[in-house]
Amino acid sequence: MKRMIGFFAALTLLLGGCAPAEQHLSQTLFSMDTVMELQIWTDRGDDVMNTCVQMLQNLEKTWSATDEDSLLSRRNAGAGDVTLDDEQMELLNRALELKNFTGGAFDPTIGAISQVWGFYDGQYRVPEDEEVLQAMFRSQWDLGAVMKGYAGDACVKLLEESGARCGLLNLGGNIQTYGTKPDGRPWNIGIQNPDGGESVAVLSINGTMAVVTSGDYQRYFEIDGVKYHHIIDPKSGYPASSGLRSVTVICRDGMTADALSTALFVMGLHKGSNFWRNNEGFEVVFITTGGDIYATQGVAISGCEYEVISREE
Ligand code: AMP
Ligand code: MG
Repeated sequence: MKRMIGFFAALTLLLGGCAPAEQHLSQTLFSMDTVMELQIWTDRGDDVMNTCVQMLQNLEKTWSATDEDSLLSRRNAGAGDVTLDDEQMELLNRALELKNFTGGAFDPTIGAISQVWGFYDGQYRVPEDEEVLQAMFRSQWDLGAVMKGYAGDACVKLLEESGARCGLLNLGGNIQTYGTKPDGRPWNIGIQNPDGGESVAVLSINGTMAVVTSGDYQRYFEIDGVKYHHIIDPKSGYPASSGLRSVTVICRDGMTADALSTALFVMGLHKGSNFWRNNEGFEVVFITTGGDIYATQGVAISGCEYEVISREE
């Protein structure tokens, strides 16, 4: 009997020794003009982290609107030698579908407009009306409003394929959760205060989800006391002034969440709420210029006072 116990003890030790321990991998990097922080819980080694980082850097190299050598910039410049593979074509097609879906509030071809406001080279300026008008007629790809969401989806796919247990990916304010949090509880995701400082609210998120915020505080410049931010209303060519400071979209698909956060910011609270009522598969939190918070009825939100937007008006 003693011998048997000894045998099982040795076997347990052996098996325990063989099972790779779960690691909590964490990496901060700068990509797509923002600081990203990736956290992954996995017992499959650290290859998946390196693969994610490499993939993010490659996406930036390909799709950057500000890097003259990127595939996107060369295509925008009309270079004859630019060919796109199936995956790249699919991305552009999906972007056009999202433009259609949002009635043009999200428009991936507004690059020339962003450029005349100086958002590409950092030489910020208020352009003449004539310049804005001309830019509105020059179609130039700019995937800035969906690239982080698209990249988040691609990371989640890599995590799935690698067999990782879960992950929390912060791609410069675009949050992607993957799987269930290590302690089994929902992920708590803060919504940034547009004026800075602490979060204004906390979202409770279950499983794999994208939580994406577009805000007027994320990129802007100030001239003569007037603030000009980076989210353009494609109908006017000017920074959207729809009465909002930020829009957060919660959706399973990161690219859709990203396009919608930009589009709903352009639409404003009233039109944006109706857009949500007429469609499914996502939830929204709006913060108005007055600081009021509105959340669609499916959002699990706490830590603030807010008004619920219900399906019936
Ligand atoms: P986001 O922070 O996701 O709302 O995206 C804003 C970025 O997308 C800007 O920096 C521009 O590069 C680009 N952009 C600005 N306005 C729009 C728009 N209405 N539709 C699509 N892309 C836009
Ligand atoms: Mg966006």
